[in-house]
Amino acid sequence: MRRMTFRGEGLARFDTLAALHVRLFIPPAVLAEPVWPMLGRDGLLKLPSGDERPAVRKYTIRTIDPTAGTVQIDFMLHNVAGPGSMFAVRAKPGDRVGLAGPGGRGLRTADCYAFLGDETAVPAVARMLENLPSNARGIAVLEVDNVGEEQGLIARPGIHVRWLHRNGAEAGTTTLLQDAFSTLIWPDHDVQLYLWPGWNTLRSRPFG
Ligand SMILES: Cc1cc2nc3c(=O)[nH]c(=O)nc-3n(C[C@H](O)[C@H](O)[C@H](O)COP(=O)(O)OP(=O)(O)OC[C@H]3O[C@@H](n4cnc5c(N)ncnc54)[C@H](O)[C@@H]3O)c2cc1C
Repeated sequence: MRRMTFRGEGLARFDTLAALHVRLFIPPAVLAEPVWPMLGRDGLLKLPSGDERPAVRKYTIRTIDPTAGTVQIDFMLHNVAGPGSMFAVRAKPGDRVGLAGPGGRGLRTADCYAFLGDETAVPAVARMLENLPSNARGIAVLEVDNVGEEQGLIARPGIHVRWLHRNGAEAGTTTLLQDAFSTLIWPDHDVQLYLWPGWNTLRSRPFG
């Protein structure tokens, strides 16, 4: 992974846990001057066309400081690099990207939390873990290639962080996360659960 720090203005609206990700507009490297999307008459974003068209990829804000005017994003460097990974590999100080959002549904308050994901989810899970209430309890199950890819996450004492290793297998080809999910022990009384990724908090029901 590669962490990059971006500098910009008007970042205050991105500083929310209610929506964690942004759309990055990555201009073609050959353009001396990027051409940015504009709002169309219908109020929708209109992308430049042809050779000026930026690639659009979703990324999570890992840290944000609107006062300093900075946003940090952790990029996974995929073996088969698309525009997002390629940008992260090649970026140099002064390069520009566009940022839109924030989007998605973010952290909810619950009695119990379960987060599951692979490397591309680690930025979102890490940010949520850091912002849970001090008495939060639950589990984060994170799949990475090997032990060297594990990250030191800040988690509350009641959150168990468990790492799964693909050990060289291609991302998305194993059942590690599904298997881990199927062995989770869910609260068997009336408890509000926040399961991520997912849209809503769930209320557990007594078994039987
Ligand atoms: C809400 C949201 C938040 C995200 N936040 C982050 C983030 O903070 N950091 C981050 O690194 N990624 C994040 N992602 C994932 C990221 O958007 C994708 O990985 C994106 O496709 C990468 O763009 P690319 O141009 O490098 O690859 P693409 O052109 O999209 O794909 C090229 C190749 O890369 C590989 N690839 C792409 N995505 C994945 C994947 N998820 N798993 C395994 N292989 C893949 C495949 O081999 C694919 O053929 C997020 C996705 C979503 C939906």
